[in-house]
Amino acid sequence: MPTRRSSDSSAGDLLFETAVDQFEAAADLIELDDPLRRVLRAPKNEIIVSFPVEMDDGELRMFRGYRVQHNDILGPFKGGLRFSPEVELGEVKALSMWMTWKTSLANVPFGGAKGGLAIDPRSMSTAELERAVRRFTHALGSNIGPEYDIPAPDVGSNSQAMVWMMDTYQHTRGTIDRQNVKRVVTGKTIETGGSLGRDKATGQGMAFVLAHHYDQINQDLRGRTAAIQGFGNVGEHAARAMARMGVTMTHVADHTGATMHPNGIDPEALWRHTSEAGGVAGFAGGTDIDVEDFFAADVDILVPAAIENQITEDRAPNVRASVVLEGANGPTSTEGEHILIDRGIEILPDVLANAGGVVVSYFEWLQNKMSNRWQLSQVDDELRRYLWEAADAVEYEKKHLACSRREAAYAVALRRIATVYEQRGIWP
Ligand code: GLU
Repeated sequence: MPTRRSSDSSAGDLLFETAVDQFEAAADLIELDDPLRRVLRAPKNEIIVSFPVEMDDGELRMFRGYRVQHNDILGPFKGGLRFSPEVELGEVKALSMWMTWKTSLANVPFGGAKGGLAIDPRSMSTAELERAVRRFTHALGSNIGPEYDIPAPDVGSNSQAMVWMMDTYQHTRGTIDRQNVKRVVTGKTIETGGSLGRDKATGQGMAFVLAHHYDQINQDLRGRTAAIQGFGNVGEHAARAMARMGVTMTHVADHTGATMHPNGIDPEALWRHTSEAGGVAGFAGGTDIDVEDFFAADVDILVPAAIENQITEDRAPNVRASVVLEGANGPTSTEGEHILIDRGIEILPDVLANAGGVVVSYFEWLQNKMSNRWQLSQVDDELRRYLWEAADAVEYEKKHLACSRREAAYAVALRRIATVYEQRGIWP
């Protein structure tokens, strides 16, 4: 049942309405009970904090941060923190709900949460950013915790931000607990307790999910071409991991523009360019093209790995790829998805395709808890195993329910959550 849309809704509110609509559609398919629908339709906790930060010129500026904890029936709340001037409550609510489905589908013992800090990290000095992250962590206080709610990087944040969070959290605990709280965040640097393979995990996982798909349809992945939108942590590592599997990246787009080369773009060379220039525009190894031409690129695989709402009803009719691999969360609008499906384009949905990040976050959390360290090969092997199991479950459900792959992914996730609610009951 679609929710009513009011004309003055913000983009974030609309995104949350989309998330709820997707949830309701999957809930209908598996005939989920009404009381449980009411539990899962709304996040458990929505936290908004405001706090002052001293800027380099001595001035105090107020900042606003969010943490939305959607559900924790399967384990501690888990999900990233995004740093962006556009962050708003509705968006974070949608993203927190998607995390609940993602962790359940991946079968890791976590719930779903998401947070955001309304800042523009590109316009701040490192010292200002550090003060903002530390103040945010302090303001969140006991709303996060190593067995309660565990943040991680997301759009605009990175491993350094996670280290500042961990350090701040640790120093606000009593002395005897301090060594036991490292796992309050994941996605840390290796030196401070991060896991090998966490930096590339989302991109690596996308390549595993893609390889599984080509295996299912009995076709070769090697020799395929790809267009990738977003060359941040997710897009860059997806490009590298796909290149290792024989996929050629011919088109790349980001917030600065788009570039293409028919013979392929070397991820390493592009990474060197973006580190200096701040984006893909002007890359010497390619020709700058219009972003709309990027979406219409004649490639096998289209990889939206930037932000939500990119494959819209305007762009979906132009897509020429046969597979859409969702690296970002929510990159395809509901209307865009209907058009892609009608046109026979396969969608590997975000909750499956980009789950590698949170799966390796779980490995990092486990390693911290056990005070040990895994080899990179162990991380990669286990990641593949988790994602292929999830992908198998989705394909089974897709056939069984005769539905879209996204609905099937939600159905798998919802069935697991529903079973636990059924066995535990709601108390008091
Ligand atoms: N931000 C990532 C995501 O959207 C990773 C979350 C995590 O590792 O907790 O899945």
